[in-house]
Amino acid sequence: MQTVSVAVIPGDGIGIETVQAARRLLDRLAELDGGIKFAYTEFPWGCAYYTQHGEMAPKDFLSTLRSFETIMLGAVGYPGVPDHVSLWGLLLPIRRGFEQYVNMRPVRILRGVTSPLRGRNPGDVNFVVIRENTEGEYSSMGGRLHTGFPHEVVVQNTVFTRLGTERVIRYAYRLAAKAPRKRLCGATKSNGINWAMPFWDEVFNQIGETEFPEVERWLTHIDALAANFVLKPDVYDVVVASNLFGDILTDLGGAVMGSIGMAPSANINPERKYPSMFEPVHGSAPDIAGKGIANPVGQIWSSSMMLDHLGRQDLGEAVMTAVEDVLEEGRVRTPDLGGRSTTNEMVDAIIARLEARF
Ligand code: ATP
Ligand code: MG
Repeated sequence: MQTVSVAVIPGDGIGIETVQAARRLLDRLAELDGGIKFAYTEFPWGCAYYTQHGEMAPKDFLSTLRSFETIMLGAVGYPGVPDHVSLWGLLLPIRRGFEQYVNMRPVRILRGVTSPLRGRNPGDVNFVVIRENTEGEYSSMGGRLHTGFPHEVVVQNTVFTRLGTERVIRYAYRLAAKAPRKRLCGATKSNGINWAMPFWDEVFNQIGETEFPEVERWLTHIDALAANFVLKPDVYDVVVASNLFGDILTDLGGAVMGSIGMAPSANINPERKYPSMFEPVHGSAPDIAGKGIANPVGQIWSSSMMLDHLGRQDLGEAVMTAVEDVLEEGRVRTPDLGGRSTTNEMVDAIIARLEARF
């Protein structure tokens, strides 16, 4: 029996609902499988905690989390708490402290889902974006020089280290080498960002040439790449991007998939020195929080990525097949997909499909 210790941080808004949904599904899956068990410890950290305690989590939260095998996160952030507080108070310290330098975000049109891209069907679009998750444009270095209105000067620096750039690009190549068409596209902007991006390109080409000659590689400027995500998303296997570019591309990817509520992500520490963290791409969605109508698929898909990471790809696949079966049948759908079902009804339907398979 494999017992997995899972730190659960439901966070805010619909995160609480989608985490609850995914846990219910995982528990049923574990029962059905009989070979795996999840031992959860739930932490009530987030914006509600901040309102009471003046911080997003206790000061020693990283050392608390360190002992867990994996982390399941809902969504963090809520109106009334500034973004920099919710991000820097919890999410970013986890990603950086645990060297989760790979942010993996699949972009795939699931069976039964209508993409807003006309003429694109499930199977046409199926790739993975690897976003650098610890440095780059989000390095928080810079400052504001007050020389008096209207002469203020603001500087924001971008940091690309050799180590940070190499490790994420190498990870993306490894993944591309396993993809059917062995293709890797690098997002760049070396014509405009003329120090950092030529360096990124150089590393991209060096690693490709010396370590992965079998992988077909090319670089595309981020502006053109964004357009290509819409115009010809079928050419990609793996796309590797810096922190900022990856952030933008993956929101676009979520839209291409039909609903941001379905997009999953994994924050991975490939060396497994620290726990990895699995969270949907969507936020806390205050507009629908507490109504029980959030789409649970983003959270469930993220849990399926967690199963992959734990070495149980078979279970990860079983979960996604059940999800796609339900979407394809079309009877049970949350409002973001044009239906009238609740979060719980959707999870029940997915569980029923899983049960039928075991
Ligand atoms: P963040 O700043 O945390 O990224 P955000 O404000 O950009 O958050 P979301 O909280 O993801 O965005 O919400 C964007 C829109 O998508 C909202 O209208 C929300 O209701 C909708 N949405 C997000 N997630 C879901 C979901 N799981 N199910 C249904 N609708 C969702
Ligand atoms: Mg957002």
